[in-house]
Amino acid sequence: MEKAKKRQFGIIATIVLAAVIVLGLMWATATATKNEEHKDTLERVERLGRIVWGVKADTRLFGLMDTKTGISQGFDIDIARALTVQISKQTGVPMSAEFVPVSSSSKMQLLKNTNIDGSVSTMTITPEREKIIDFTDQYFDAGQSILVRKNSGIKNIRDMNSSKYTIIVVVGTTAATELAKFAPKAKMLAVQDYATGMQALKSGQGQAMSTDNAILYGFATENPEYHIAGNAFTHGPYGIAFDNNQGPMIKQTNRALKTIKENGIYNQLIKKWFSDVPGLDWHSLEVK
Ligand code: GLU
Repeated sequence: MEKAKKRQFGIIATIVLAAVIVLGLMWATATATKNEEHKDTLERVERLGRIVWGVKADTRLFGLMDTKTGISQGFDIDIARALTVQISKQTGVPMSAEFVPVSSSSKMQLLKNTNIDGSVSTMTITPEREKIIDFTDQYFDAGQSILVRKNSGIKNIRDMNSSKYTIIVVVGTTAATELAKFAPKAKMLAVQDYATGMQALKSGQGQAMSTDNAILYGFATENPEYHIAGNAFTHGPYGIAFDNNQGPMIKQTNRALKTIKENGIYNQLIKKWFSDVPGLDWHSLEVK
């Protein structure tokens, strides 16, 4: 009896050990594959024949989801398409452009997880972000402003430096950090996306919404009782983002960016998206 029990125990122990070894091997293989995926973005997009771009879905003019088709439209999407065509030409590898909606707060993590290869998403190049991800050369010039009701009497950000004011920002953007410098006494209300921010502004939960002027122009166009007050109080150009240490992909993208700026495609896209925006000197956005 004792002997039979011992044998049974031995069999169970062997099965458990085997299972642990198999699971361990599976985990090691999965990790190795994941690390392999992480290694070289250019190698990955060439191998798979597509570049998955993270683009905004809530940002008028740059990346706004068309609720009927589920596809985002905007300057960023067109830039990503033009870059994909150009990178395909440069590498000799045909690639398609695919798009994944990203939010202001999710895009860094999605790059890290390789859920997206790159991000063209109104993303300001900052030294803090550069510690975690790589940026290309700048592809759009922007600076932070405030959107207020036209009859609010607020003329610029300095007018808002008082605890009687609440400024609405979107989480994950650079807006809050900058406001802490320019209107430290004002209260801040952080929301998940711009649509919610606009609702909060209209319902009086704040007296201003703050982000890049280029983004606010989109909202001012749609909401004629609101306007941008004062000049931009920061300078924060946008870059295209990739995971860190992606030298080859950054090099190809910078080359492609230079080409579309030289061959007129970039200026065509500036005209397409910004020439109808009231109050915006869109010619100043063109590359000369
Ligand atoms: N340019 C700002 C930033 O990079 C706003 C971007 C956004 O709205 O996602 O934080």
